[in-house]
Amino acid sequence: MAVQVTESPKGTAVPTAPVTPAASGPVDLGPAAALSCRECGQRFDLGPIFACAECFGPLEVAYDLPTGDPHALRQRIEAGPNNIWRYAPLLPVPADVAAKPNLNPGLTKLVQADRLARELGVTGGLYVKDDSGNPTHSFKDRVVAIAVEAARAFGFTTLSCSSTGNLAGAVGAAAARAGFRSCVFIPHDLEAGKVVMAAVYGGELVGIEGTYDDVNRFCSELIGDPLGEGWGFVNVNLRPYYGEGSKTLAYEICEQLGWEIPDQIVIPVASGSQLTKIDKGLKELIKLGLVEDKPYKIFGAQAEGCSPVSRAFKDGHDVVRPVKPDTIAKSLAIGNPADGPYVLDIARRTGGAVEDVNDEQVVEAIKLLARTEGIFAETAGGVTVGVTRKLIESGQLDPTLTTVVLNTGDGLKTLDAVAPTTGPTATIKPSIDAFRAAGLAS
Ligand SMILES: *Cc1c(COP(=O)(O)O)cnc(C)c1O
Ligand SMILES: [Zn+2]
Repeated sequence: MAVQVTESPKGTAVPTAPVTPAASGPVDLGPAAALSCRECGQRFDLGPIFACAECFGPLEVAYDLPTGDPHALRQRIEAGPNNIWRYAPLLPVPADVAAKPNLNPGLTKLVQADRLARELGVTGGLYVKDDSGNPTHSFKDRVVAIAVEAARAFGFTTLSCSSTGNLAGAVGAAAARAGFRSCVFIPHDLEAGKVVMAAVYGGELVGIEGTYDDVNRFCSELIGDPLGEGWGFVNVNLRPYYGEGSKTLAYEICEQLGWEIPDQIVIPVASGSQLTKIDKGLKELIKLGLVEDKPYKIFGAQAEGCSPVSRAFKDGHDVVRPVKPDTIAKSLAIGNPADGPYVLDIARRTGGAVEDVNDEQVVEAIKLLARTEGIFAETAGGVTVGVTRKLIESGQLDPTLTTVVLNTGDGLKTLDAVAPTTGPTATIKPSIDAFRAAGLAS
């Protein structure tokens, strides 16, 4: 399968209409009606395209959403499977999606974090949405599950991606389960836990000598090359579908709070896709009457060593200037975030903010969450918890309001971040005397 390419006004190669999908018959992606341009609103048929042929703006999925009684829809959702497919009526997936072989991510725990709240001085209710509980231990299983359905619909045979680590593992696992070939690309210098997770499912794993942004540029070139024919890059040519998976975080958080929108949500920002789609999901819930309309604030969290969006927010800029990442939060190390400007819009429109913390604060926050709530987060979770603390101290986040903080990954994949400062309190001989001498009895 090939994607036709034309010249955009800016002289950049832009994929236009997809060629006829290899799969026969019309594309069935449930309530997904079309792709629409986020900049100019131009609509396109559903296909493996991601940029507007008119203005080069990013495309997103437009829906014919269910109309009618919100209570009936709520009941239908609540009676659905205990994973993201309970929200199938709101996602670009066929109605029988739950019957297909996939990893069934989602419905992860929303942990009421009272001990963390006390440490941070939050009195209005603090919750951690713990997405380390997904099948490959990061939130990426959500977005990949949706992209897999698009790949099936468009007749792709190989699944691929450019990844900061977690995505590669999620694609490898989903491909294995769904019976696709996979070939994924990562920066060569990722954490061992991420590399092993990406390789163990048996697909091809390619380390690229460069940053994530180099990997991503390489993948964009591969899509335009005959070598990439028949390949579904979940976060490039399937990006409009992939992004929709993050809406399920919004749906779950609200359902788990008794169908209510929290006042404040703190979300990590790499490309910014997750944050923008959580906002999209909240707006859909309001529109459908599944939750009451109320104001909410969205906060973006970055690591100081890769904080282009936070920088732009603080400087009052609309444009995000790319940076070269240097941080232990490698899953968030995207120096040129595709959705950066939309993150700025949402933070400003909702009255939120974008903030960053340094690597030392990331490690402190990982340990704080671990010792207060028994949740071992990866560095991205250290970023959100650390930023939450900083935003409370600066008065930008209101501790008297209900707040949800996302932990998007598992600490076991980023052991190196805490290993140098974490270990046994003592190593002793197996004797009572030695234990007494260690002074640990209380
Ligand atoms: C990919 C990722 C994110 C956020 O990604 P976006 O590109 O901003 O959607 C957050 N946390 C973890 C652990 C990730 O792997
Ligand atoms: Zn457009």
